[in-house]
Amino acid sequence: MAQDEAGQREHRTTTVEQGRFCLARCDCGWRGPARRARSLARTDAEAHAAGG
Ligand SMILES: [Zn+2]
Repeated sequence: MAQDEAGQREHRTTTVEQGRFCLARCDCGWRGPARRARSLARTDAEAHAAGG
């Protein structure tokens, strides 16, 4: 497996539910804060994928 360090970094984000909360996760290892609404977690994920 080769890793492209200089290429495009694709952030594949997903939202996961933890109990009553929902949070965003990314393949790069990033994790968003726990949110009460999945829509907020998705907003976090989109902001991260956009370069946050
Ligand atoms: Zn990421």
